[in-house]
Amino acid sequence: MPSDTLRNTRSHLFYQTGHPRPVLDRAEGIYMWDSEGNRFIDGSSGAMVCNIGHSNPAVLAAMQAQMERFTFGYRLHFVTEASEALAAKTASLAWPGMDRVFFVSGGSEAVESAIKLARQYAIAIGQPSRWKIISRSPSYHGCTLGALAISGYEALSDPFLPMMQAMPKVSAPRAWLDGLDPADPATGAHYAAELERKILEEGPDSVLGFILEPVGGASTGALVPPAGYMEAVREVCTRHGVLLIHDEVMSGGGRTGRFLGGQNWTAAPDILAVSKGFGAGYVPLGAMVAQGHIVDAVMAGGGFLHGFTYAGNPLACAAGLAVIAEIERQDMMGNAQRTGALLKRELEGLMPRFPFIGEVRGMGLLLALELVADRDSKEPLPPELRAFDRLTEQAYQRGLIIYPRRSRGGYSGDHVLIAPPMITTPAQVGEIMERLTDALTAFAA
Ligand code: PMP
Repeated sequence: MPSDTLRNTRSHLFYQTGHPRPVLDRAEGIYMWDSEGNRFIDGSSGAMVCNIGHSNPAVLAAMQAQMERFTFGYRLHFVTEASEALAAKTASLAWPGMDRVFFVSGGSEAVESAIKLARQYAIAIGQPSRWKIISRSPSYHGCTLGALAISGYEALSDPFLPMMQAMPKVSAPRAWLDGLDPADPATGAHYAAELERKILEEGPDSVLGFILEPVGGASTGALVPPAGYMEAVREVCTRHGVLLIHDEVMSGGGRTGRFLGGQNWTAAPDILAVSKGFGAGYVPLGAMVAQGHIVDAVMAGGGFLHGFTYAGNPLACAAGLAVIAEIERQDMMGNAQRTGALLKRELEGLMPRFPFIGEVRGMGLLLALELVADRDSKEPLPPELRAFDRLTEQAYQRGLIIYPRRSRGGYSGDHVLIAPPMITTPAQVGEIMERLTDALTAFAA
């Protein structure tokens, strides 16, 4: 790639790209072009955001139509058709009884809103001693102090500990590291028992909630829960009066083959957070969705002490509504299942050739390759090798964007997420595989 396209070395911005990056010029479908005309395949939909592909004409038209009428109406001054319609649509796609929706502008805001609703609910029902939210390690639930406090990601959270309350953690159910069979329901029960022990240790009267990603995102590398896990943690939470919160920021929006990742199982949460694929890269949009009885209790107790200026932004809601309409019109969730199964088979087909691929994980079009030193023991690669980064750069140089995550010593190996938009065709899977195979070959050399 010509070096004069690499502009951000001189930038006033200080995002951590790690590498100089070209200037983005345009994007359409699963492809993106830089200002020099180089074409990239968006093999990770940005950060698992652009689920329906770029420049979808129906979404752009819906945004244009909304923009021509008005772009902002403050939520305390006006109701808008777009926010009402998107709230109704969201409730219809969520779990039974989860019919109250609070719009935000991103994933951290959605998780932060869930934490604050849960806490206010405990106060409203006369249980003010409940304030701890148990989460899993590793996990990532957002960068605001509240969401960070419940993220199992010490490198990000530790510097801020004096400014927030550290929250209890249990292990994410990484059966492959613990030598357990993910298909055996005893494995799900094993990790649910760890949650119950943690609740008892903390004192059930102090525990407010438990948060998990139904299908893991970046922190666990497309972790699919073991058999029985989702139902068993639901049962433990219910028994101890602990609210179950699903973080669907990455797994929601259809890419696991269901609108919500958790809907691949039967156990419903009490509160959930969505974002990323909800606005699908067209607008900053997220939502916190909750059981009606929770919101009713909070509203009866004096109202929800929380809010963002841009909550329910009409342009964002108009785009979000059009995104869902396109997902349904083009059966993108069906495509995520079919194309995801094809891509997963192709990725598994790489394993004999590349022994450092420890596992291919995921569901639908939320897939990951784990990179290891030894496939049997799952021993991680040495951190100084920066395998996650080197492989991602090899792919980038070949016009394929994938999403890297470094090894979390003792928790997970290096991995890369492969999560192209839900409109990806079988032929495009071929294009992805060609570039990825070249990248893996160069990485192995
Ligand atoms: N939760 C999960 C599971 C995420 O993956 C992310 C973002 N990667 C967040 C929360 C935070 O979302 P945002 O960056 O939009 O604030």
